[in-house]
Amino acid sequence: MSEGIVGRRRPLPLHTKIFLGLVGGAVSGISVNVFLGRRPEVEWIVRTVTEPIGQIFLRMLIMVVVPLVFASLALGVAGLGDLRKLGRIGVKTLLYFVLVTALAVTIGLILVNVIRPGEGLSEQVKVQLLETYRGQTAETLEQAGRTRFGIQTFVNIVPRNPIAAAVQGDMLGIIFFALMFGVALTFLPASRAQPVMAVLSGIGEAMVVLIDLAMKLAPIGVAALIFSVTARFGFDLLAKLGVYVFTVILGLAIHQFGAYSILVRVFARLNPWQFFSAIRTVMVTAFSTSSSNATLPTTIRVSQENLGIPGEIAGFVLPLGATMNMNGTALFEGVTVLFLAQVFGVELSFSAQLIVIVMSVLTAIGAAGVPGGSLPLLILVLQTVGVPGEGIAIILGVDRLLDMCRTTLNVTGDVTAAAFIARSEGYALMPRPSVVEMERTEAGGERRW
Ligand code: ASP
Repeated sequence: MSEGIVGRRRPLPLHTKIFLGLVGGAVSGISVNVFLGRRPEVEWIVRTVTEPIGQIFLRMLIMVVVPLVFASLALGVAGLGDLRKLGRIGVKTLLYFVLVTALAVTIGLILVNVIRPGEGLSEQVKVQLLETYRGQTAETLEQAGRTRFGIQTFVNIVPRNPIAAAVQGDMLGIIFFALMFGVALTFLPASRAQPVMAVLSGIGEAMVVLIDLAMKLAPIGVAALIFSVTARFGFDLLAKLGVYVFTVILGLAIHQFGAYSILVRVFARLNPWQFFSAIRTVMVTAFSTSSSNATLPTTIRVSQENLGIPGEIAGFVLPLGATMNMNGTALFEGVTVLFLAQVFGVELSFSAQLIVIVMSVLTAIGAAGVPGGSLPLLILVLQTVGVPGEGIAIILGVDRLLDMCRTTLNVTGDVTAAAFIARSEGYALMPRPSVVEMERTEAGGERRW
């Protein structure tokens, strides 16, 4: 009998396995938290089992970021061919980033002005939180003190030494060098540029193999990451800061499912439902890692495979977006600054709120795509409008949860940008492969991996 066929069940698709990992990690972490509390055994399991597993998964993703960003950006630029096209795409991309980020902060500020979460926080809870998180706050304040935000921020985009930028994970420095390298390739005669491009292409392909390997670990890695967060999470804090958390998450949800649905429908001419379904692995990875950088390899891969975004556009827009386009972070910053202003009784006028919008957009561009990357910059925004930086102690206990949600928005925003740019450059998205291939060839693009 054909027992091979009768007995064999189709394996679950990877995204379903990752989703099950997410749910499994959350359910077991929350159960342990609720039923066992903060017992030393729980801490032991998190420290010696789940956290290391989660870290291995995260590191496998992060490990490919520098070579992948370099190869995909340099090839993206070289693949675009002419500098005018690069300039046009660059300007469109940056404009989209800034405008959509400003829209996100505006949504947040409207909500926080209407809901006014800071007014309900009791004096006792405020003092208690300031006391509990004093140590952690001091560290972040110190980091903020070292962060120079001003003209030097722009000067620093040009790295003195690209290798040092790679070693330090200075994404803007790596991006700048990769862009210039790609531009330089377009000036070389084809016979000289081609071998270099072939090597870059090979590096990119090898990185994709590594991402595939890392993503095989994703169901377990995601479960371990989520378990570590939920098992330790101070759920009692959620009740105390419930209105604030609700305001941030409501704002993120409006932007994620409202604004992005409209944007992908209007600018990328995609069905929003299909869009979200196509990128669900990206969203789950962003949610569980809280890092745009760690999610970047998956973002590039999925955008090309599931949405049909051409390699040269994905390779250009997505690495830039992972560093510069943080809609969720900007929205979170705006809401948090106004929330803390309400808590500390600082009245912020309309013009002060405009400053909050501008500063949130700028600092979101400068924030690193790592967990908690925006916190030092958030302090800068607070101080600019006269709210004490120490105030972030009040929200630190719930920050990880908010970070998971805002990172999901950040990364989704990057894909909407890439979809918009691809569409505006005349590429069809997510249709039959033959059509994509045809249009790609017509537009002079070339599929690399
Ligand atoms: N974790 C965020 C990201 O990687 C940055 C932040 O808002 O802290 O996109």
